[in-house]
Amino acid sequence: MSTLIEKLVAIVGKSNVLTAQKDQTKYITDWPGDKTGRARAVVRPANTQEVSKIMEFAYHTTTPVVPQSGNTGVAGGSIPDQSGDAILLSLERMNIIRDISRSAQTIVVEAGCVLETIHTTVEELGLFFPLNFGARGSCMIGGNLATNAGGSNVVRYGNTRDLCLGIEAVMPDGEIMNLLSGLHKNNTGYDLRNLLIGSEGTLGVITAATLKLFPLPKARETCLATVNDISGGLDLLNLIQAETGGAVEAFELMPKALFELLAKHLPHLKQPFTDIPEMSVLIEIAATSDADAKMSESGITPIAQKLENVLADAFESDLVTDAVIASSEAQRSEIWTLRESALEAITAEGERIGFDIALPLDAVHEFVDEMAGTVDRILPGARMLPVGHLGDGNLHYTVFPKEDETANLRKHAADIKAAVYGPLSSYGGSFSAEHGIGANKLAEMTAFKDPAALAVMRRVKAALDPKGIMNPGRMLP
Ligand SMILES: Cc1cc2nc3c(=O)[nH]c(=O)nc-3n(C[C@H](O)[C@H](O)[C@H](O)COP(=O)(O)OP(=O)(O)OC[C@H]3O[C@@H](n4cnc5c(N)ncnc54)[C@H](O)[C@@H]3O)c2cc1C
Repeated sequence: MSTLIEKLVAIVGKSNVLTAQKDQTKYITDWPGDKTGRARAVVRPANTQEVSKIMEFAYHTTTPVVPQSGNTGVAGGSIPDQSGDAILLSLERMNIIRDISRSAQTIVVEAGCVLETIHTTVEELGLFFPLNFGARGSCMIGGNLATNAGGSNVVRYGNTRDLCLGIEAVMPDGEIMNLLSGLHKNNTGYDLRNLLIGSEGTLGVITAATLKLFPLPKARETCLATVNDISGGLDLLNLIQAETGGAVEAFELMPKALFELLAKHLPHLKQPFTDIPEMSVLIEIAATSDADAKMSESGITPIAQKLENVLADAFESDLVTDAVIASSEAQRSEIWTLRESALEAITAEGERIGFDIALPLDAVHEFVDEMAGTVDRILPGARMLPVGHLGDGNLHYTVFPKEDETANLRKHAADIKAAVYGPLSSYGGSFSAEHGIGANKLAEMTAFKDPAALAVMRRVKAALDPKGIMNPGRMLP
């Protein structure tokens, strides 16, 4: 046994140092399953002290460390490279809920807590943790923080960063930094919590966090509304926000091509439309007050009535041409399953170029229109799929080639990327919205990140991780 393995076994025990290929497979293969890395060992500490000892040892031996939580990241940052030099530090055993305060509406969780477990735990107390997306059953809060994950509720509650009051982190030399404050105000120097959030494992290991909780909605109304186009969708969003006092929890763009892909690859999913409209939006509004959630004598809650009224107005003004309102929790779940299966259907369709971009809300329509022409000129007949979180301007824009023309897609990949990324800055957009940079967007980082900002990031990295052991080759080109 090599010294490195012996030392790790001494810290976490033999059963938590995985060296055999078969034991490592699930940790070193990324979510889509098309990339694998190599690790000297997968190490699974049980607590922050063990993480600290591992990092101290890695620091002294200049051993690269790749932190990993749920391994659902889609930027290629959660698995090691092919060198086989790194140890993969899995946080999955650190899944204790350390504290919940009903009155302060906070929860303190360890990094390996699965997002869905946090949901169910707080819901039992009538509380709500709003971070939500399709990977909730596998992703963990450490990874959510490290990627500053977004999801479908950002329009109302913000990104993961906005939901976090404090973190505990182990720095590259093993030092434990306790910033687990539940304070809403704490101006005591540099904001190190927010530096670690979104750092994708390149500055330290997040081991725990204090999260903000909210009142659990007492009623939700969910619907799919057919709109004329993306701008019409945005007008509808603003109308509903105004009429409901900002009760929109999610507002998702669902183009026809998405329903077609879902029907093709996931035919068991129930389709809501017999005649699929060109563009629809998934809307969810929620009420936390009894007054808005209580069933009236006419059998409708005030929040449902509000949605019906807004939709009626929108029909009148031709903003909406059709709508399917979920009349039960089962129907709500069917609608959400369609949206949350988008990535699975897109992946199943095969070779593609995928973009995770952010735009000002009022630029989304024009950008999508411009791209339809631009991409078609480069790759005639290409199919474009603009799915996304319209409520916060995040587009998951995918370009598929015409059937049987994948070779052509590969040939023109660089031109298509340049054509999509090129105009983004003039729209005030970003080349990376919620998935992060990881290993997959290093070229974009070099090409499009402000050079001065990139230089400062490099100085921060050099100061906090002078030996460059934290997730090397990820995020920073
Ligand atoms: C079906 C599906 C739907 C998705 N939908 C969304 C979505 O709507 N919005 C969205 O934002 N993302 C989405 N994602 C992407 C992914 O789920 C998120 O990025 C998630 O936050 C990653 O969490 P994780 O625990 O799986 O992290 P991992 O994949 O394990 O890691 C991600 C990154 O964080 C680093 N990291 C992990 N844990 C730590 C830690 N404790 N300390 C320091 N660094 C760490 C890793 O090194 C890596 O760089 C989706 C993924 C899938 C598969």
